[in-house]
Amino acid sequence: RRSTREWQQADAAHFLHPFTDTAALAKKGARIITKAENIYLWDSEGHKILDGMSGLWCVNTGYSQPSLIEAANRQMKELPYYNAFFQTSTIPAIELAELLAQVTPPQFKHVFYGTSGSESNDTVVRLVRHYWALQGQPERQVIIARKNGYHGSTMAGASLSGMAYMHAQGGLPIPNITHIQQPFWYELGGDMSPDEFGKVAAGWLEERILEVGPEKVAAFIGEPIQGAGGVIIPPKTYWPEIQRICDKYGILLVSDEVICGFGRTGNWFGCETMGSKPDLMTFAKGVTAGYVPLGGVMVSDRVADVLIEKGGEFEHGYTYSGHPVACAVAVANIKLMQQQKLVEHVRDDVGPYLAQQFETLRDHPLVGEAVSCGLMGAIQLVKDKATRQFFPSSLEVGMVCRGHCFGNGLVMRAVGDRMVIAPPLIITRAQIDEMMTLIRRCLDLTLADVKA
Ligand code: PLP
Repeated sequence: RRSTREWQQADAAHFLHPFTDTAALAKKGARIITKAENIYLWDSEGHKILDGMSGLWCVNTGYSQPSLIEAANRQMKELPYYNAFFQTSTIPAIELAELLAQVTPPQFKHVFYGTSGSESNDTVVRLVRHYWALQGQPERQVIIARKNGYHGSTMAGASLSGMAYMHAQGGLPIPNITHIQQPFWYELGGDMSPDEFGKVAAGWLEERILEVGPEKVAAFIGEPIQGAGGVIIPPKTYWPEIQRICDKYGILLVSDEVICGFGRTGNWFGCETMGSKPDLMTFAKGVTAGYVPLGGVMVSDRVADVLIEKGGEFEHGYTYSGHPVACAVAVANIKLMQQQKLVEHVRDDVGPYLAQQFETLRDHPLVGEAVSCGLMGAIQLVKDKATRQFFPSSLEVGMVCRGHCFGNGLVMRAVGDRMVIAPPLIITRAQIDEMMTLIRRCLDLTLADVKA
């Protein structure tokens, strides 16, 4: 068996990691994760780590669930692969489509499968333009997204994403995608109450629609709560106002549920928590708890009826659309969530408990705000609480805090100086207490560094 150092050397020699400075990683050496159980990981040195991020916001039902592993095993033996092109289908893909129609809001009866969130959002770009062409309005090409939103890394996914540092590489965005400002009250709200600000921030959508020309706008896309952008929870007035504006101009509303879907916010889907009624919903991650790759687009009757009645062929699809093993795991995962009442567990028990615990962090000298919704939370580290003044980004206070977390057995993500958590939905109150003890310790260690 190779030593950790040897694995790290092989990793540095051959593996280009996503979103990673390879030279910096090579100097430090990757932390090699070797096993996991429940909400915990272990590294190759035997350290136990509480996974406060569910992997990448995906292992919602926790690691090593026997029913998911058995479902994959059974399906691998029976039919490891077949496609859904050329008028064929497979039983797991049909079963999952039926189940998705049950757990999603009532306007959804159809699904288009892919394997990731990025692919699902790429599908949306083509689907909405195809829809408008079928409706005799092919000039409706423009998709409005938001700054600091995240929708993936493919050409269309990264274009929809509102991350300037992503656009700088590869000449993005692709044409006909435009971004409005995000609804981040803490940073942008000034003297407004959150509710006032929510309406103002939604109004930026209407302003952009009028600038572009309503007859050219195909869709608006947003995450109910921005995840990778730092768990930006919009004021409760925001999404209903976005819905009203989309309705007013007949624009398709797309909810990117890649993180918020499958129980994360205390409902099956984030749009239910935030109060919108989307025409399309993209999903991935939590649908299989990340055990195998699967994503897709839920298509509402408004869109599906047109596609089916007027459509002919939709010239789009992937080799792995409706992969039977991935679909079998998703079916097992959704059934597990139903049997264990995990959505209710988040909504009625651990979600409110986490919110209550986060309240207590507000007294900490570094904490500007500590907010959560269901099992997504963010702690904004600030220089001055009274004036909501941030630290200069050069100090990288968030990275310092993330380092302390990792060193003390907790995975927490840093988005600038915003510390983010999204633990598995199976977490218990006792485990939240354990996580909070670690968070407080890491905040204190970070404060000591900031003062030094
Ligand atoms: N959409 C959202 C909201 C995401 O958070 C992500 C990934 O984090 C994606 C899309 C892209 O998903 P994937 O990495 O599966 O392509």
